[in-house]
Amino acid sequence: MANPIDFHPTGDVEFDNLMNEVNAEIMATNDFLLPDEMVLSAVTKSCNFFNLPEVPVIHADGTCVWPNNTTTYADDVLGFNRAELMSMGISGEDSLTLIYTHECAHRTLQGAYNDPWEEELACDFFAGVHAGLRDINIDNFEAALGATTGGASHPAGALRAEFIEYGQKIADEMQERGIEVTYEGCLERLNQHLEEKEGLIAEYRQRIDPTYHSLTEDEMLAQNASADLTDDSAHANVSGESCGSIGLVEPASIDDVEPHFNVSGETLGSIGLAEDVTIDEDSVKGLTKAEIDRKIAKAEKEERYYKGMVEHELSMAKHSTDNAGREYHTSKASNFAKEATKWHEEAIKWKYTKPDEK
Ligand SMILES: [Zn+2]
Repeated sequence: MANPIDFHPTGDVEFDNLMNEVNAEIMATNDFLLPDEMVLSAVTKSCNFFNLPEVPVIHADGTCVWPNNTTTYADDVLGFNRAELMSMGISGEDSLTLIYTHECAHRTLQGAYNDPWEEELACDFFAGVHAGLRDINIDNFEAALGATTGGASHPAGALRAEFIEYGQKIADEMQERGIEVTYEGCLERLNQHLEEKEGLIAEYRQRIDPTYHSLTEDEMLAQNASADLTDDSAHANVSGESCGSIGLVEPASIDDVEPHFNVSGETLGSIGLAEDVTIDEDSVKGLTKAEIDRKIAKAEKEERYYKGMVEHELSMAKHSTDNAGREYHTSKASNFAKEATKWHEEAIKWKYTKPDEK
């Protein structure tokens, strides 16, 4: 999935322009695949589904909800992060609608569960219910959440997929039997299901945190008694600073999934500027001027090749008539841009390397 590349200007105008073009194309493709109008439409459908007031949607670090004051729905704020959703593989209005159904379910619960996993599974369940009632396709949404690993605040993907499907099944069944599908009725079935799946949930938790154990009744009582004081979950937060997110990754590991240039394994503050270039002394020891020149020539040749491929893929992306084609070529352009940057960096490194004179 294409994300904007982490690009620092190199001072090479032609090179910088090409990289800026790649990033512009990635952004345009993202806007094209998940346009603002689609987001607003998904939010409207989700709020209407729960009969909640529509609230502002802001660009945020994550796709999330701030319930703010938990005694009212009117002050809630929804967050939207296009790059995050794109990196999860979310595309199309059905998936976006289910994403915001999940977030709006947080609004309805306003911290009803003390346990973050239970609350997340509840929100996934309601997304499934919405899908069942309005014939919304769950495939993309379920695949995106199902692929997440989970952590302290969010359950493992497989468990989430199970609750999405269960919500859909419950809605289908109730409709078939002519039972009115109500929020309370669904909540009751959900809580039964949470109890039934207690063992499975505990198993997944132990996989993520081996020190986790199911609480005894006494521990549970003690925890409930102190929950009001110690509850730091986002959903009961009144400051609006933290945010109940869709939870593709735990905050601590976000850096791991963000695209970064991998410049031959070395850490560089920025690429291409002489003062920032780190040279591995061992690898340059004893090289003659001719050898260094050959390395420069090789790097420049590779850079030219990958820049050509970037241009080709950008052109293909611009001429694509369907979403999948546009996304495919933009993603390839992004990968070639990373290669081009690597070789650009390599060429500069050798240009600043002095031959061994001894
Ligand atoms: Zn959530």
